[in-house]
Amino acid sequence: MPRPALELADILRAHGEAFRSTHAGHLSLGQLKVMSAIEACRTAALGGHVARCDDCRHLAVSYNSCRNRHCPKCQGAAARDWLAEREADLLPVPYFHVAFTLPAPLAAIAFHNKTVVYAKPPFGGPAAVLAYLARYTHRTAIANSRLVAMDDHAVRFRWKDYRAADPATGAVRLKTMSLSPDEFLRRFLLHVLPPGFHRIRHYGLLAKGPRAIDLDRLRALIAKQANDQPAAPDDDEREPDEPETTALPACPCCGGRMRIIERFGCGRSPCTAAGLPLDDCGAVVITAGCPDPSAATVQISLRRRFCF
Ligand SMILES: [Zn+2]
Ligand SMILES: [Zn+2]
Repeated sequence: MPRPALELADILRAHGEAFRSTHAGHLSLGQLKVMSAIEACRTAALGGHVARCDDCRHLAVSYNSCRNRHCPKCQGAAARDWLAEREADLLPVPYFHVAFTLPAPLAAIAFHNKTVVYAKPPFGGPAAVLAYLARYTHRTAIANSRLVAMDDHAVRFRWKDYRAADPATGAVRLKTMSLSPDEFLRRFLLHVLPPGFHRIRHYGLLAKGPRAIDLDRLRALIAKQANDQPAAPDDDEREPDEPETTALPACPCCGGRMRIIERFGCGRSPCTAAGLPLDDCGAVVITAGCPDPSAATVQISLRRRFCF
């Protein structure tokens, strides 16, 4: 996925320091941590690794992600991981989709009385419900794709005006808003969740702790009852280092497999690329070690999109 032209991290790096001084003493520790995490996301401040293509020896440097729940860049990967984990938990049984939408004063009463407001079998099966939920469970205050432009005086971004929706089609009108950087950051930080706040909770068989044991046992019992073969054992034949290599994007030059050859810590630079010149795109250019004699250079792309 190409990097958006403007990211929340760019705005924080450009205006975060001024915002901190303007609002000194009025920002919570949680808000300050969110700002620092997003500013450092995918930079040398968090360390990273160097991967090399097994075939053409192309080198790629990737920096670690902050994994902060408010970082729009990290939450896309977090949503995909969450969806994959939930799909792995699904059992071969019918499911019901239960939704609660209640005014806050009634929420406590409904919780204690187990009030079911809405329940029905999901249209597309439980996997479709999970995919639907994953689009909302890891949303952040604003997605990078909605950011339009930034300068010293304003941040422009797209927003959906639901009140101006087309009554016939329901189509929502997209508008552009312009705010001062200070006001933009103030509004963003209003969405920082308090420490310990859980957006997602798992109950019963899906609760943490006994979950893995119970689900395996349940699958075996269901398979036995259906006179079917028990679930196949997890025939994981991967080599010990394969999870790291198979998770890497393919080589952009030849499509070969990339393998991590170096890791570097927070605030450090990779030794593999030390002292090498940068080109106009921020890529490191070297002239040695290229296996193809006809190639003049080997480029090390400073990609930041790989997420641990
Ligand atoms: Zn991040
Ligand atoms: Zn390659």
